[in-house]
Amino acid sequence: MSEEKDKAAESLKAFTESKELSDRMGKIKHKIMVLSGKGGVGKSTVAANIAVSLAMEGNKVGLLDTDFHGPSIPTLLNLEGRQPGSDGKTILPIEFSEGLKVMSIGFLLPNKDDAIIWRGPMKTKVIKQLLTEVNWGELDYLIIDFPPGTGDEPLSVAQLIPGMDGAVIITTPQNLSLNDVKKCINFCRQLSVPVLGVVENMSGLVCPNCKTIINVFKTGGGKKMAGEMGVPFLGTIPIDPQIVEASDSGKPFVYHYGKTEAAKAFAGVVQPLLQMGDKTKPETKIVLSKEEEKKGMHKIAIPVVEGHLSAHFGHCDEFAIFDVDLENKKIVGQEKAPSPPHEPGLLPRWLGEKGVNVIIAGGMGTRAQQLFAESGITVSVGAPADDPEKLVISYMDNALELGSNICDH
Ligand code: ADP
Repeated sequence: MSEEKDKAAESLKAFTESKELSDRMGKIKHKIMVLSGKGGVGKSTVAANIAVSLAMEGNKVGLLDTDFHGPSIPTLLNLEGRQPGSDGKTILPIEFSEGLKVMSIGFLLPNKDDAIIWRGPMKTKVIKQLLTEVNWGELDYLIIDFPPGTGDEPLSVAQLIPGMDGAVIITTPQNLSLNDVKKCINFCRQLSVPVLGVVENMSGLVCPNCKTIINVFKTGGGKKMAGEMGVPFLGTIPIDPQIVEASDSGKPFVYHYGKTEAAKAFAGVVQPLLQMGDKTKPETKIVLSKEEEKKGMHKIAIPVVEGHLSAHFGHCDEFAIFDVDLENKKIVGQEKAPSPPHEPGLLPRWLGEKGVNVIIAGGMGTRAQQLFAESGITVSVGAPADDPEKLVISYMDNALELGSNICDH
């Protein structure tokens, strides 16, 4: 009997906690994760400067640092040694400035030099507690910084916050080992977290004398990789010694050095995030890299109903399949194939066997998108219900306008 009571109490506690978490997150319009494949690429610096930039535009912003092993947000914003407040029930984040509240695991750790062994489940528990108990109030944006890689911290956060708007992935030209960034992108796809875009940080050096940008390492790899993976590219940020100076002295760079080339670069990166408005996903154009264009032949499938793109992927009569030569922007063949029976997991296999590597769709559920991603098929969702041939021509011209996913179930 007492065992039953314990179970009932436990499930009531779990229910109350998840309700508290969803109420808390429900007050935040946009939740954005900042990820990187490797450490030292400037992820925390970019996360902090994105948060400050959004706040400087009049938004209410929260910055959450989930790094157990080397939380750097307190240092970057000169908040080391500060303690968050409490109203007895909730934890109150530190108000860095008007419009910007900050919470870091660093504020809660006893001493940064103490070696604490954190196991995965312990981290997940602390992260859940942070997401539930930190009282941000109403926010326009919550920017979440993580340790490098795709470990327990981003996994817990992505699973605990179902309406995540997306992830910004930071890389550098020299660290641009494609696999690391690809891993981050696949990780997001697996968890149905949209990739908002890739930022290439430390891309070229701002000359301290003449202020022009010198490309010390080869730049442009981030853009190329984003094109290959079918995700947006948000821009490059140069190496600027003043960023290190600002970071070391705890001054937000974009605020104190607003006129520099690097600050202008930050502004470009933040622009698509500012434009998110109340949409959950930014409108994106497919960016085809030169490399991808050169790959030549592509097979594009479009779900069709009554001669136009079917707004609901699962409800189409047939597929229009086009063989295209991307290099010469030409349709070289086309066929119509009646839609196979509606069976879970059948479509990715069926289209894969036909050699399809691109799908242009209207609305598509997240699970289907994940299955196609895992099968190496690039999916562009949110295309209009137009004539399939017209859509393929726009795709080849890199002018396909994508709106929101109208059938995300
Ligand atoms: P990560 O979070 O990826 O480990 P950090 O944000 O801690 O990386 O940055 C690592 C170091 O690089 C810091 O000293 C930071 O000041 C510096 N840094 C980051 N971005 C730039 C840049 N664009 N120009 C110059 N230094 C930078």
